[in-house]
Amino acid sequence: MVETVKGIVLRETPIADYDKIMTVLTAEYGKIAVYARGAKRLKSPLFTATQLFTYGEFTVSRTKTTYYLRTGELIESFYHIRDTLEGAALAAYIADVAADIAIEDEPSPELMRLVLNSFHVIATKKKPMALVKGVFELRAAAIAGFMPNLVACEGCGNSDLDVFYFDVSCGTFRCEDCYRVSAMLSERFAERRNENEGIYPTGQLIAILSASVFAAMRYAIYSKPERLFSFELKDEALSDFASVAEKYITCHMEKNYATLEFYHTVKD
Ligand SMILES: [Zn+2]
Repeated sequence: MVETVKGIVLRETPIADYDKIMTVLTAEYGKIAVYARGAKRLKSPLFTATQLFTYGEFTVSRTKTTYYLRTGELIESFYHIRDTLEGAALAAYIADVAADIAIEDEPSPELMRLVLNSFHVIATKKKPMALVKGVFELRAAAIAGFMPNLVACEGCGNSDLDVFYFDVSCGTFRCEDCYRVSAMLSERFAERRNENEGIYPTGQLIAILSASVFAAMRYAIYSKPERLFSFELKDEALSDFASVAEKYITCHMEKNYATLEFYHTVKD
């Protein structure tokens, strides 16, 4: 069967001298493995559309396990992702997480849109990389089934606070009073408490967040896809946002990504 799909090249594995197998994220079929024969030849008509991070339209013939690439048309190369090492490293990490979350033969239009939007913002450099990364991490975790509840305090239902005690492993938060009450239940907590993080009675990680950081988290989770990156955060608030988003996805995906470690070694 021959069909046409639009997709983003998330990974490529070289095969022999000139072939490669690509992991492609599509809206209709989730992630698919596409065998691209001869695509590594500079003169191949498949060369341009099969580069890493490229968004393209692919004509493929399908067998039970593999898609074979017949033609590839470039839609967007996101070439300027590679202008900085930090941008390229972040895109590699995003591609890694997306390939992990996407499921074969399960439609993933939301994830596809998130990756496209993230790549676009990296390439245009309109936002700090730390902001792009944090938004992607929170939203990707939610798409993967780990939607945090950022609406109201678990204990009293208040939502408008100055300080938020966010429980990273549960994805919920408490106000300071409710947090203290629950914390008092454990002597262990009192021993382990420090300025920024505490150990909860059950051992979860607590991030103590300002109103502006928490507003950014709410934005990343609840805003419409087209408005996803339309907010500003600076300095300490931005680094707190990036830090809690990374803790959140790392905790829930239960995985250490080599591409994330690399990003940290090259970021400014
Ligand atoms: Zn409360």
